[in-house]
Amino acid sequence: MKLKNLLLPVALCASIAFSAQAQNREIKAAAGDAYIEKQGSYTPDFKIDGTNKRVRNVILLIGDGMGHGAVNAAMYANGGELTMTNLRTFGLVRTQSADNFTTDSAASGTAYATGQKTNNGYLGMDTAKERIPNIPEILAPLGYACGVLSTDDLNGATPAAFFAHQPARGMKEEIWADLPASSLTFASAGTQNAYETRPLATQEAIRSRYTVVYDPKDPAVAGSERLLYLPETVTLDRGDYLPATTEMAIEYLSARSKKGFFLMVEGARIDKSEHSNDFPGTVKEALDFDKAVEAAIRFAERDGHTLVVISADHETGATILSKAEPENGYALGIFASKGHSPMMVPLFAYGPRSREFTGTQENSDVANKILAILGAKK
Ligand SMILES: [Zn+2]
Repeated sequence: MKLKNLLLPVALCASIAFSAQAQNREIKAAAGDAYIEKQGSYTPDFKIDGTNKRVRNVILLIGDGMGHGAVNAAMYANGGELTMTNLRTFGLVRTQSADNFTTDSAASGTAYATGQKTNNGYLGMDTAKERIPNIPEILAPLGYACGVLSTDDLNGATPAAFFAHQPARGMKEEIWADLPASSLTFASAGTQNAYETRPLATQEAIRSRYTVVYDPKDPAVAGSERLLYLPETVTLDRGDYLPATTEMAIEYLSARSKKGFFLMVEGARIDKSEHSNDFPGTVKEALDFDKAVEAAIRFAERDGHTLVVISADHETGATILSKAEPENGYALGIFASKGHSPMMVPLFAYGPRSREFTGTQENSDVANKILAILGAKK
């Protein structure tokens, strides 16, 4: 009793000091309304979820900047449901990079792609600027077919982390030039225009190794060994590009390996919307990403040997859901920042061995777990 009485004033003082500090600090918060057309969600049957069945394929979906705020906002604006939040396996991911408490997409992408933390800005290289093998480079020699898909350009940090090795994410031409020597069987990121404005030598090197198409229905797709599919646009007027290309990539990779496949799918523009404090954009991009999640989950349910892991490289915008009316498809969001934040991000998983992703883990752990589950050594 006595101890409690003594402690109470101390606790009060501490909380007063804390709130005074908060008042003095200027927090420029931006708010935004989103009214969205509900798209529903998909719930699988969970028969294979959490079993010890053999995992043949892994689909890793990364929502760039998709923290709890973006997930909550999209879920409640969508009537309280998302395919990812219908899943039963959850975890948390810490995203710090080797040299910064707040990561960028290059360092976190590298952690997800290689199982190793590095400095902000580095792609596929450790803190000493030595190359580190990425998941496709480790899996391809074992017979797996590997692919990346993103609504960013091919040189965007997240897709680039799965094929490039460069000390700075801004080295656009060097990153594109790393594609021909990569271990990717399928890539779709960036646009026809982005490809055609690269130096001719890069375009030729890519064409010498990849069949390049601008239309997913191009007859050249069927007979190709390796594919680079570049759509006209990857911004919000892209239609169902992300979910449809997720299906395309799954089909393409499945047909090119008996052993299995690894596919990374990135919803890149959740982050971009949060950087510009565009709340409706954040919600729409997170919902589009959830459609890609649905495509992956539907395949995993049918296939029975596919593990799906969904997470984010970091949080962006210090995004908060402040109000929602799920029945009206309405949400009100607040951004406390225009940059990245060090908040933990949610992880969702489905399929055999999904339970290994519960609890709190580092972003690099996710890659190491995937490799261990597929029986691959680094
Ligand atoms: Zn960002």
